[in-house]
Amino acid sequence: MTKYVFVTGGVVSSLGKGVASASLAAILESRGLKVTLIKLDPYINIDPGTMSPFQHGEVFVTDDGAETDLDLGHYERFIDTKMKRTNNFTTGQIYQSVLDKERRGDYLGKTVQVIPHITNEIQDFIKRGAGVGTPDEVDVAIVETGGTVGDIESLPFLEAVRQLGIKLPPKSCAYVHLTYVPWISAAKELKTKPTQHTVQKLREIGIQPDALLCRADFRVPEEEIEKISLFTNVQKWGVISVWNADVIYEVPRMLHEQGLDSLICDKLGLHVRPANLKRWDDLVAAKKAATKTVRIAMVGKYVDYSDSYKSLNEALVHAGLKNGAMVDIHYVDSESIRSDNSAELLKGHDAILVPGGFGERGIEGKIAAVRYARESKTPYLGICLGMQVATIEFARHVVGLTGANSAEFDAQTPHPVIALIDEWKDADGSIQIRTAASNLGGTMRKGAQSSDVKAGTLAHSIYGDLVTERHRHRYEANVDYLERLQAAGLVISALTQREKLTEIVELPKTVHPWFIGVQFHPEFKSTPWDGHPLFNAYIAAAMSDKA
Ligand code: GLN
Repeated sequence: MTKYVFVTGGVVSSLGKGVASASLAAILESRGLKVTLIKLDPYINIDPGTMSPFQHGEVFVTDDGAETDLDLGHYERFIDTKMKRTNNFTTGQIYQSVLDKERRGDYLGKTVQVIPHITNEIQDFIKRGAGVGTPDEVDVAIVETGGTVGDIESLPFLEAVRQLGIKLPPKSCAYVHLTYVPWISAAKELKTKPTQHTVQKLREIGIQPDALLCRADFRVPEEEIEKISLFTNVQKWGVISVWNADVIYEVPRMLHEQGLDSLICDKLGLHVRPANLKRWDDLVAAKKAATKTVRIAMVGKYVDYSDSYKSLNEALVHAGLKNGAMVDIHYVDSESIRSDNSAELLKGHDAILVPGGFGERGIEGKIAAVRYARESKTPYLGICLGMQVATIEFARHVVGLTGANSAEFDAQTPHPVIALIDEWKDADGSIQIRTAASNLGGTMRKGAQSSDVKAGTLAHSIYGDLVTERHRHRYEANVDYLERLQAAGLVISALTQREKLTEIVELPKTVHPWFIGVQFHPEFKSTPWDGHPLFNAYIAAAMSDKA
């Protein structure tokens, strides 16, 4: 039978609830349990797909094509279980499901209410996320509720998880609350009052936490731990300190040393082998041992908010670890780059990267950055939009197609080398993807797809014969231009198996040491243990160029 750990947050957001939850999951996994993580988002959007990366950070994409909260990225990087569509849901999805049932008459004339209908639906979604009754059923599901206790919008979620504590058999549920213990520099004191209040609020709702994770700038001293324990009715050994770590991979050990996993196993009646955190210790050691530094220029428009490129940053760090290097990411605002200043802004970097993105702003700057990378023979990695701008740059400056562009940025371009499929599809009808601008949430190519990789290419040396990666984009390389691009020297090294859409473009080794653009998002599949073959090769190229 599946057991649940419900994780809530208090005082303020951005304390690292996702990392804390993922760390607990990692420890439990190391104890031989089958674990998953589920994120409940109290906002009304159906998913974060249409939300601004400035507000919400990255949209993480799962293999099955769901656009989810970026915490699912942490989950996949911390545990072996892969995330699916059912691992993240929002108030919007709950209401949509309840309203569909109401229209079908499933409620048999009853008044449909928050309690019990919404709360029951939340409980069903949680059980679905845990795979209850399926072959994927887990031993422990760690269920994280977004936001902070006291928010109006999260009340139905907290009520639902409170009810599970009494509906399920004894020893099925544990409650963990993440709180903040601020340091007041004027008084030179750590303050426990916000923690006392947030736990009071939680207990008002009917949830008594079994453990408190106290985020603070440094380890919370014994005296404050005792005080927090007394005022919150949490046993002293359940009051756990989570101080700022140099490396997030230190968090599993930090929690384990203070007994969090033993407490949870006790509470849930799980008799399992002890934790083995060697893989985490090795990672921390590798990170600390890295001596060289690689400087990457990341040219994008969401540069002021690094959560917008969360998985990408992590993938670069992982690849650095694999190459024994620290990766220093220098964000360059694409709007600041022009053809006459690109060399000045980009020189001094070991490699250039253009990440994914939407909309016209900053596009010319990205094209100028690609041109600089191509002409200066600096290693270049283009991801999604980064592949599209590499294609546009090549079409304009090598093939000589003046005004070439993506139809996304210039509907009137004489050469739409990147376009919506409907804009260039001819009569043969073999392409299955449809676009409908009226439904922004449902028109993208999303999730995992496979492509054959051409032998003898750079891509083949990285991936072998087959590449399977995740997608999230609307526009595609226009097949009508492929011949002209190839004749001028652009190598199309992978095409999708089904529709023969361009997946990878590159420059031959004779022309450029390392230049590759991919239509997919490899960053979603990088792990701290193995890195990711494409990023590992990219960082290796950046380092060899340096030497
Ligand atoms: N805006 C481009 C498209 O929709 C690229 C998307 C991306 O980079 N994720 O095709």
